[in-house]
Amino acid sequence: MPSEQVDVVVVGAGFAGLTAARAVHEAGRSVLVLEARDRVGGRTCTEEHHGTWIDLGGQWIGPGQDRVAALAAELGVETYPQPTGGDDVVLHPDGTPHRVADVALAFSDEELTAYLELAGALEAIAEEVPLDAPWRAPEAAAWDATTLRDWVAGTGVPDRVAALFEVGVQAVFAATSAQLSLLHAAHYVHSAGGWSKLTDTEGGAQQDRLVGGVQPLAERLAARLPDGALRLSTPVRELAQDGEGVTAHAADGQQVRARRAIVAVPPTLAARIDHDPPLPAQRDQLLQHMPQGSVVKFHVIYDEPWWRAEGLSGAVLCPDEPIGVTFDGTPPAGAPGIVTGFFEGPAAVAAGARTREERRDVVVDVLARTLGERARDVRDYIDRDWSAEPWTRGCYGAHLPPGAWTVYGPALRVPVGRVHWAGTETAERWTGYIDGAIESGQRAAAEVLAALGS
Ligand code: FAD
Repeated sequence: MPSEQVDVVVVGAGFAGLTAARAVHEAGRSVLVLEARDRVGGRTCTEEHHGTWIDLGGQWIGPGQDRVAALAAELGVETYPQPTGGDDVVLHPDGTPHRVADVALAFSDEELTAYLELAGALEAIAEEVPLDAPWRAPEAAAWDATTLRDWVAGTGVPDRVAALFEVGVQAVFAATSAQLSLLHAAHYVHSAGGWSKLTDTEGGAQQDRLVGGVQPLAERLAARLPDGALRLSTPVRELAQDGEGVTAHAADGQQVRARRAIVAVPPTLAARIDHDPPLPAQRDQLLQHMPQGSVVKFHVIYDEPWWRAEGLSGAVLCPDEPIGVTFDGTPPAGAPGIVTGFFEGPAAVAAGARTREERRDVVVDVLARTLGERARDVRDYIDRDWSAEPWTRGCYGAHLPPGAWTVYGPALRVPVGRVHWAGTETAERWTGYIDGAIESGQRAAAEVLAALGS
């Protein structure tokens, strides 16, 4: 017999699950969140190192991400601008570093025009893609039948422009343009409000950071739940439903009976929960077609942000290296100095097969060739391979290859009996981001509350 009974059981205590649970609780319904990890926050994870906080997962928020901004303001978490002062460094294919006041200046006028036209053409397609139903886009079949890579090639942009665009693609999707359907890329761009919203620091998704890191925001959100409404270290293995309710079977034989369930985990992990009765074919096939991207996020710690004194921003752009971009990750106190960056897509898969020491050597070598030899005076190197995390299995989010949106997409948000779906991948706005996770939690809670007659 189930050990306990609630109105709603929520699987996953990331921003989606916590938001949903809070809404259910505030509507006067009983709720229990079951979380596999021994912490909340999911794909956000903040740790203390060298006297400061380090965001190993989600870290920035930007304009238009109104839900996460409102949550931070409500829960008393301040933001500060991502430092950008100083020159960026672009590593050219011949290995020479070029200091530029702005990455855009790494292009010739002709190349810049071609890049902007390419981004504009993608945005024009994006505007045609309905946020709630990409499969209904006027040319959905054609856009879903091609990869983003083939579409870029078909525009005839110069190779160098395509290569720099590819750095942006991998920074945004953690996958190559050959892995994405054009329809998926266009939907994602529309969801964020434009290509530059995704790639830019000032005015874009990398504009601001949270003082103290992002996971503490999830912890404050969790603290809004009533006592006993959150159970950590409790992976859900099976959801069994009948005409009366749904039973969540979790670790150690725990069983929770609820009238409705909200599954707020990445699609690839939703597919690893047993469902009784089995999921409808289209829903299951959708989950089979939503792989996560690949990311190893790193922080190189120095005694101080020495590059600032040399007029550098700490941002490097390396189209031909395993690490594409870096940022100045120094906290507002000014020390320690931190360079934050990513292995993404295939480079992350390869990096994940190496030791942390080997990854450190790769990163430091690139930083020495771009920012200067002082980059070798490392105090510490910290990283996280998100594909290796059993309760995430890849980041930043899921992507859809050709053919998936149009054939399986309609099942994305449709509840299966008493089981509802949340998670950033189900969001209309800022899908793939923390803001989208919050939107999805609000939407799933509203569905459940309506079904319960609240
Ligand atoms: P998750 O955070 O994945 O939450 C799902 C939860 O479910 C997890 O806690 C997991 O442990 C749990 N779970 C999984 N399976 C089970 C199970 N069977 N039973 C119980 N619990 C289970 N977004 C931004 O907005 N800005 C950024 O700068 C940014 N940078 C990023 C950098 C990295 C390196 C990564 C990894 C992500 C980044 N993101 C960023 C993306 C952002 O973190 C995610 O979009 C968001 O946190 C997803 O929230 P979620 O609640 O949908 O899913």
